[in-house]
Amino acid sequence: MSEKNLKVDIKDLSVEFRTDYGIVKALNDMDVELEEGETLGLVGETGAGKTTTALSMLRLIPNPPGVITGGSVTINGKDILTLPEKDMLDIRGNVVALIFQDPMTSLDPVITVEEQIAEVVELHEEGGHQHARDRAREMLELVGIPCERGKEYPHQFSGGMKQRVVIAIALACTPEILIADEPTTALDVTIQAQVLEMMRDLRNKYNTSMLMITHDLGIVAEICDKVSVVYAGHVIEHGTLEDVFDHTRHPYTEGLFNSLPNLENRSEKLKPIKGLMPDPSNLPPGCAFCPRCNYALPICETEKPPRYYRNDEHYVECHLYNEQNVKEGKVIERADYNE
Ligand code: SF4
Repeated sequence: MSEKNLKVDIKDLSVEFRTDYGIVKALNDMDVELEEGETLGLVGETGAGKTTTALSMLRLIPNPPGVITGGSVTINGKDILTLPEKDMLDIRGNVVALIFQDPMTSLDPVITVEEQIAEVVELHEEGGHQHARDRAREMLELVGIPCERGKEYPHQFSGGMKQRVVIAIALACTPEILIADEPTTALDVTIQAQVLEMMRDLRNKYNTSMLMITHDLGIVAEICDKVSVVYAGHVIEHGTLEDVFDHTRHPYTEGLFNSLPNLENRSEKLKPIKGLMPDPSNLPPGCAFCPRCNYALPICETEKPPRYYRNDEHYVECHLYNEQNVKEGKVIERADYNE
């Protein structure tokens, strides 16, 4: 197996939120490996633990109620969970940048966009205010906004333009790692495609490693090299884009593909995955997907599935990949799945 040059290495990370209503298990032995210059898609439904993973990487889980109960997070070889807070400031400011879904939560409505980019540059780079403003104008041009518009305020920009400004701010200090949390969800499809193309160009220009958090496999196909499919705070299938798209193994991943709109035949009905994600304060003892799975075997109700590797990269956690289980078990009948 080739030696990986990992920028991010999360292993068996478990995070829980201790609330008055019980313990919410947000991450359950979560794994993320992000290599230099690579884009990894973290895919799953809302509530799967994708954002908690991103916040854990920057040690931004509010405590209380959030507690990291196990596992490790390593960025550039540094153990994030024990790093002194002053070193964390460097990681948050210079090494890792975050982009969220709603640009308005990241932009200050009363400061011009050029100033907002310049402020970040000035905070992290030497060279004074003039250098920071020059860099801000350069970044605006890079994200496709004429630099003269830097004198305007966020409300004078469209949604897509605002998200470009947010990306310009995130990339102004050329971070090594960019975490983009549903960065294009609030945009219409055409603008979304433009923003993704721009992110791809910037990634190639700066060799940025990217973690793309999304519920949308279409976005993954556009921009990612590898995919980790997350369910109930755990990766249940991981591989290259080709592995996961052309050799889908996990019933949940299959379900995600089935819920994609068929663009060639818009009249075809979407087939969403039935049921809901399990209550994270009361997870099933076996496979977390069992209550929704139409291939479930008796063993799925009681035992967590181990990891089965299809090749060096592609793995799946599902009891179906043990022939003995399939020979011995009888699929649990779920009448409503055959409608
Ligand atoms: Fe379905 Fe069982 Fe596989 Fe879980 S382990 S996805 S319940 S078949």
